[in-house]
Amino acid sequence: MARDHMSARETCGLRTCRSPVSRPNVVGMTSTDSSRRVLVTGAASGIGLACAARFAGAGDEVTVLDKDADQVERVANDLGAKALVCDLLDIDRVAAIDLDVDIVINNAGFQHVAPIESFPHQKFAQILALMLQAPFVLAQSVLPHMYDRGFGRFVHISSVHGHRASAFKAGYVTAKHGLEGLSKAIAIEGAAHGVTSNTIAPGFVRTPLVENQIADQAQAHGIQPDQVLSDVLLARTPVKRLLEPDEVARLAQFMCGPGSDSITGASYDMTGGWTAA
Ligand code: NAD
Repeated sequence: MARDHMSARETCGLRTCRSPVSRPNVVGMTSTDSSRRVLVTGAASGIGLACAARFAGAGDEVTVLDKDADQVERVANDLGAKALVCDLLDIDRVAAIDLDVDIVINNAGFQHVAPIESFPHQKFAQILALMLQAPFVLAQSVLPHMYDRGFGRFVHISSVHGHRASAFKAGYVTAKHGLEGLSKAIAIEGAAHGVTSNTIAPGFVRTPLVENQIADQAQAHGIQPDQVLSDVLLARTPVKRLLEPDEVARLAQFMCGPGSDSITGASYDMTGGWTAA
């Protein structure tokens, strides 16, 4: 399909612009008419699972990657997807992945909550390896295929913490700020090859990653667990609810859909208004 698009673009060229026919000029149509190959990392749970379900539901050929073998196999069975069991902390293993895909949803991540002075060095290194180095190494292996076809889409699941800092999240904030930079670098190098790269920067989403930090947040802030949602997580958010994973997935799908050729190097906030203040 991507080849079809490329040839459509090549044959249309400037003639499309000179056409007297008045109709929307959908530049370099992305493949809505046939299935695309999509890689979703961290697809066994939460936002990754929602993205995999959205793309599979649209008829795309989805590969679900996760370190959780049992769960990712289950997800693959449920969605009719391919399972790829891989711990993205194993950078050599990531470098050996040779996947020819049209779309990468770079999503795997984890959180660690602790003050800087007691933040374990190893956790800091792991967060950077998973959420920054692995996406870079993955991009190195998929970009040549995308360049050959003249088409590719990267959607990186960043965070409001790609733009803002919060106490006790030094590793996560550092990795997500770095991911924003990596996405822009891919956007600039990929532009001549039909490859776009963007981030989604959600606020708090109802997933295990958030549920698992309630106790740590309560301890770090010296409050009761049932105060964490209102006093910490949603304290700066005008829309007083957690996001649902599928809301993020819908935005990811839009960023890979028709008319997305010029959306690149961008970061889409989905924060319930947090960043408006
Ligand atoms: P989640 O814990 O529900 O899912 C994360 C998935 O990543 C899990 O399936 C896990 O097994 C996988 N994973 C973790 N380490 C891995 C590794 N080393 N190799 C391969 N897979 C690994 O979390 P989520 O909330 O869905 O988070 C997904 C992404 O969204 C993360 O990058 C996170 O930073 C980002 N995000 C989440 C929120 C939120 O509030 N939940 C907000 C903003 C951004």
